[in-house]
Amino acid sequence: MARSSGSTSTKHMRVPLLKPRPIRLSHYADDLAAHEASGVFSNFGPINTAFESRLLSDVFGGDGACLTACNATIALLLAVKEAVHFGGRRGRYALVPSFTFAATAHAAAWCGLTPILYDIEPETWLPSREAEQRLMERHGEDIAVILPYATYGNCLDLNWYAALAARTGVGVVIDAAASLGTRDAAGHGFGHGAPMSVVYSMHATKTFATSEGAVIYCADKQRIARLRQMANFGFDGARAAQMPGLNAKLAELPALQALRKLDEIDRVVERRAELYALYRARLQDFTFQRHTGTRAAHQFVPTLMPEEAGIPRATFVQRMKERGVDLGTYFSPHLAEQPYFKDIAVVDELPVTAAIAPRVVALPLYDTMEEAELRYVCEAAADCLR
Ligand SMILES: *Cc1c(COP(=O)(O)O)cnc(C)c1O
Repeated sequence: MARSSGSTSTKHMRVPLLKPRPIRLSHYADDLAAHEASGVFSNFGPINTAFESRLLSDVFGGDGACLTACNATIALLLAVKEAVHFGGRRGRYALVPSFTFAATAHAAAWCGLTPILYDIEPETWLPSREAEQRLMERHGEDIAVILPYATYGNCLDLNWYAALAARTGVGVVIDAAASLGTRDAAGHGFGHGAPMSVVYSMHATKTFATSEGAVIYCADKQRIARLRQMANFGFDGARAAQMPGLNAKLAELPALQALRKLDEIDRVVERRAELYALYRARLQDFTFQRHTGTRAAHQFVPTLMPEEAGIPRATFVQRMKERGVDLGTYFSPHLAEQPYFKDIAVVDELPVTAAIAPRVVALPLYDTMEEAELRYVCEAAADCLR
């Protein structure tokens, strides 16, 4: 049986999963010359300061404060440490969804906490509230911090976490790695008004692409001031450490990539949203995530293979690769399936994660994707499932 018989397109294409597109520094010769002339290469120099202030006004309506960091893994670690140290929590556990990237649990582990890996919701793929409530009741003070992931740039209900923190004193740090460009139900940048640290990645593979970089936003300016001090060795003005610290600073050069990315981020997110909608219309047999905000900063297109697909995911991925289409399988294996976390973590019941993770496939998406490429991916998918 010829599996290609149903295809209307015969031309073979090569479609990667992602095509990272940070701004081209070579196009900004004047900015580079000014940067070199300034003699300031890091330590919250003028480019960082300009970026933080524009990001705050463009994305967060000027409320609160934000801080850049060298990457989101270190930023998460810093934010967890801040929440635990200044929150005065003695607990040994961190609640981490199992359906997330390794960095979320690594950040907790580097802070000396034992991750408790918990389940997600069936349609939004956001962390399970039922599990959070149940685990908080069971472990109480032993839980130092909760690290919910805003899954694939979807919007978490931050009021839920603010109320949980207010009621129990638990620390909360939001992993919003894929959310820079996402807008919540009210149309604000996701995170706006959050009383806890919200951490975004600007890694080359994210929608807000630089090279390496991250942002921490919080409505509480004092918290950001503390984090800024912690990110610079915990130093005060006399260079004496006053608190736990490390070097988490973003250099000026990637900050320039971030500053210029701000000029185009809305166009980038809108274009990706159009492509996402085309996929959704064409791939009726696949399951898509239910979104809770007004705009998601799609990094790729996560879907679930049809339940009745009849072929294993690995076979589908392999067949697509032979057609020239690269797929991802984020986040499968999920954390509870990864040897290191299996070793150090406590695993809660994971019925939804166990049902969803084996079916997940990430479809290609990038700023410059052509509709012909998208059609090719969809036709190849239909053929490969046959
Ligand atoms: C990308 C990502 C991170 C890590 O971001 P880096 O900037 O690469 O360190 C953390 N958590 C999640 C969920 C991610 O997708």
